[in-house]
Amino acid sequence: MISKQMEELVKGSSVIRAMFEEGKKLAAKYGAENVYDFSLGNPSVEPPEEVRQAMVDIVQKEDQNYLHGYMNNSGYEDVRRTIAESINRKFGMHFAERNIVMTVGAAGGLNVVLKTLVNPGEEVIVFAPFFGEYRNYVSNVNGKVVVVPPDTDTFMPNMEQFEACITELTKAVIINTPNNPTGVVYPEQTIRELSAILEKKQREFGTDIYLISDEPYRELVYGDVVVPYIPKYYNNTIVGYSYSKSLSLPGERIGYLVIPDEVADFEQVSAGANVATRILGFVNAPSLQQRVIARCIDAKVDVSVYDKNRRLLVENLRKFGYECASPDGAFYLFVKALEEDDTAFAAKAKELNLLIVPGSSFACPGYVRISYCVDYDMIVRSLPAFEKLANRYKG
Ligand code: PLP
Repeated sequence: MISKQMEELVKGSSVIRAMFEEGKKLAAKYGAENVYDFSLGNPSVEPPEEVRQAMVDIVQKEDQNYLHGYMNNSGYEDVRRTIAESINRKFGMHFAERNIVMTVGAAGGLNVVLKTLVNPGEEVIVFAPFFGEYRNYVSNVNGKVVVVPPDTDTFMPNMEQFEACITELTKAVIINTPNNPTGVVYPEQTIRELSAILEKKQREFGTDIYLISDEPYRELVYGDVVVPYIPKYYNNTIVGYSYSKSLSLPGERIGYLVIPDEVADFEQVSAGANVATRILGFVNAPSLQQRVIARCIDAKVDVSVYDKNRRLLVENLRKFGYECASPDGAFYLFVKALEEDDTAFAAKAKELNLLIVPGSSFACPGYVRISYCVDYDMIVRSLPAFEKLANRYKG
């Protein structure tokens, strides 16, 4: 018998993952070219060539005992130093290797931070719509998720509601910008307002409230949009970064945490993150990928591919009558469903072999998420199905 808690988790298991599996079944039945799978955030752009080359080179040429051995649970010192220096160059910070903990992607990083910070019953605030896995990560440490309701006009945080959600039990707040599922990027003013509220509430309650900035999409922005570097605005910020999307390496499981010296109880938080990495069973982030990152610190994926997809979809969906904002970042569109029940709407889409994710999975019913990290030609082929779906709601 599995545990009661796991029984529940299996029952409520990720809608997105289930859809991905469904997509494979549909492809077997109708032919892959006739199924339009917009369900998963699996990057469609190849990793940069220098990343592949670095992997080959490191495996062939570096000291193999060193490469495949255990290491400090926080990761290789030289890799952490390289990352710290790169952040300092980009954002004018002052980090050193002690501020970086290598992680098993953003998911690993978030679990490490929450394990480090949260006592059972303490609250973690998230802004709807949000990445549904946050619920599981917070439940892993017996914390309580507190949801700030969505502002569907802007998909920016509603500051009044945010302030009202903060209590003496608030241990952390998770933000995610560029955002999954909306693609919005919080401008500097939003970060300033959030920070001011957090400062005020820390003073009022005499507590430390940590701001966890979940940043797997930091590099995926379009035009000249700037993603503010959060530790500049609020001392108690911990950044969770990932190379899953920024270098198209989601299966390799590599990322890092930034824990600035200014964070409350820095020494303890940093030691805690090191121990959490070990006792959660990660032990350390994958060693080969750490070495790859250090070699390819300035590598970038070609974001113009996503931009082209975004333009094609936004232009056509609007033409067909969908209400659809053109987001600044990530690779998702969050589109208003054409009926109130987003799950029923996604089911109707599936009848046309269109796989899209109901907004309810992100605590925002009435919308659907369309991942456009897919092949451009698949988008072109899918357009008649999107049009047909819209037509079903007309007249
Ligand atoms: N956070 C958000 C908002 C995500 O969308 C994802 C993955 O899609 C993750 C975290 C997990 O990313 P990783 O693959 O780096 O663990």
